[in-house]
Amino acid sequence: MEKQATIKQLAKWLKEHDDYVVTAHVNPDGDAAGSSMGAMLALRALGKRAFVCLPQKAPKMFSRYPFAEEILTPENELPFEPKTAFVLDPSEYNRMGGVCAIYDRCEAHAMLDHHGTNAGFGDIWHIDANRIAAGELVVELIEELGVELTKDMATWLFIAISTDSGHFRFGGTAPSTMYAVAKLLDAGLDLGTVSRELWNTRTKGRTHLMGVVLSGLQVSDDGLIAWARLTDDMLEKCGALPEDNDGIVNYLLEIEGVEAAVLAEQRGENTKFSLRSKNWLDVAALARTFGGGGHNRASGCTVNLPMEEALEKVLDGTRKALENK
Ligand code: 5GP
Repeated sequence: MEKQATIKQLAKWLKEHDDYVVTAHVNPDGDAAGSSMGAMLALRALGKRAFVCLPQKAPKMFSRYPFAEEILTPENELPFEPKTAFVLDPSEYNRMGGVCAIYDRCEAHAMLDHHGTNAGFGDIWHIDANRIAAGELVVELIEELGVELTKDMATWLFIAISTDSGHFRFGGTAPSTMYAVAKLLDAGLDLGTVSRELWNTRTKGRTHLMGVVLSGLQVSDDGLIAWARLTDDMLEKCGALPEDNDGIVNYLLEIEGVEAAVLAEQRGENTKFSLRSKNWLDVAALARTFGGGGHNRASGCTVNLPMEEALEKVLDGTRKALENK
């Protein structure tokens, strides 16, 4: 960790560079998209050239927010050849997916993250695993950059913080989270509207998918593990998008007495897992045994096996992890 920098040092470094590609992790969620957009707008406010290129399209529900139409993916033509990469919330290098090639072409590389499983990469980075969202760190970065926090930045950073904290309900929500949101409110954030759009608005397809996936839920005999499956067939039948999976695993975790929730999603011939725990199980460690990672209470991994075989292995690992208490 000899290259771990303070946010102040990172801000200084960012000011000294230009021509940015700003990116985040695959399957971009609210923190990935929100932190990237907040950081990009701050770099532009400094007079830098910057664009956001995410490994895949951001969830459609974010398309209503400012400059969302500018978010690129590696398939798009880039507005210019970037010289500097700034990566938000990646958790590890490989999780930049298709953006790795663009990152590699850059001359300089910076990173800001809150994943404790991230060992650090690039020329300069700051990782703080005590933060519930990378977006919290971007709020501080903007202060250190000395640019005005605008309403547009605040909206994206609220998306980042609200989604990664489960709208301030998850355990890692800290005083620093609330201080960051207070600053966003000062900058003009419309908290009521954005909260409703994020948490109490869903498409028909997403609603239907929730019902179909949850109707197949199973719970272990001891009541500690809940799991469910999400297949391509279900997506098609419900007219839902892959991103509509988001949040379903939490319903499994909310079952009384359940400590570990496992959502298995078909990804071609492979299976992607979302792992969550309620009180004590370290699901980051569990995910790492399958090549994944994440946080203590929310992690993920992809197992290169069809669903039923993969699910058997992950449930077996979960059972063992619970026994090792
Ligand atoms: P989700 O279940 O929502 O896909 O992911 C939960 C958390 O685990 C997120 O912070 C996400 O970045 C992380 N995560 C999910 N899949 C992987 C993976 O395959 N590798 C690593 N390192 N982290 C993952």
